[in-house]
Amino acid sequence: MKYIGAHVSAAGGIQNAPVNANAIGAKAFGVFTKNQRQWVAKPLEKDEILAFRKNCEKYGYKPFQILPHDSYLINLGHPDNAALNKSRKAFIDEMQRCEALGLDRLNFHPGSHLKLTDEETCLKTIAESVNIALGKSRGVMAVIENTAGQGTNLGYNFEQIRFIIDYIEDKERAGVCIDTAHAYSAGYDIKSEAGYENTFVEFDRIIGFSYLKGMHINDSKKEPGSRVDRHELIGKGTLGEDVFVRLMNDVRFDGIPIILETPDQTKWKEEIAFLYGAIREL
Ligand SMILES: [Zn+2]
Ligand SMILES: [Zn+2]
Repeated sequence: MKYIGAHVSAAGGIQNAPVNANAIGAKAFGVFTKNQRQWVAKPLEKDEILAFRKNCEKYGYKPFQILPHDSYLINLGHPDNAALNKSRKAFIDEMQRCEALGLDRLNFHPGSHLKLTDEETCLKTIAESVNIALGKSRGVMAVIENTAGQGTNLGYNFEQIRFIIDYIEDKERAGVCIDTAHAYSAGYDIKSEAGYENTFVEFDRIIGFSYLKGMHINDSKKEPGSRVDRHELIGKGTLGEDVFVRLMNDVRFDGIPIILETPDQTKWKEEIAFLYGAIREL
């Protein structure tokens, strides 16, 4: 079964996210548990937590259908110690917020070396950051998102993600989220049928589908291999519609939150309906 949704707004309180998701026909949703452009947020109120859980229950969202995203400010591979500690502190807070909400996974972008250290050191720093955060939270998986490889962002190939996982102590709480636009921009040809097959065979060989805990489905404004991260509406970008139809009929992507991060939220309802409509009856 496919659980398709979008990264919805939590304006006015996190308890509104499941309401917003339900309004667009989503069976999954992504959300920020705090303002993603600020370092510190006030702790979640007990009332807010209870209201969130109540609304999730009311609209039928279980933890495995929800993929919270961490703040864009966090860099778990930061080469500067003070900056790294700030990021680690913020990430621990995000993991604990997810735990308080009863959620089981948190999606994050691995980190950037900022040309101040080498890739391997940065990847090890990221893994160590995850280990620290896992030690200070319970029941929440750290879900690594593949990146487009823009600037000095790491995690743009499966080998780098595998490298991080190898250094994570509690592998039961390590996961991966594939963003289709990022994968294409990073040079994975998921557009052609052969390229699609090949990419996911490689994913399974290097990382393993057992680690797949979410998807971000976005078309891309950019050419493959551009290493530039610009999302586009489904079917309106360089990827085109076919890959998404293929994905909808691929059982390897069953049972996980599949989240749209496409640029026009007024189109999400339509996009979700299109994706569900693309599933062929058996
Ligand atoms: Zn994404
Ligand atoms: Zn992106």
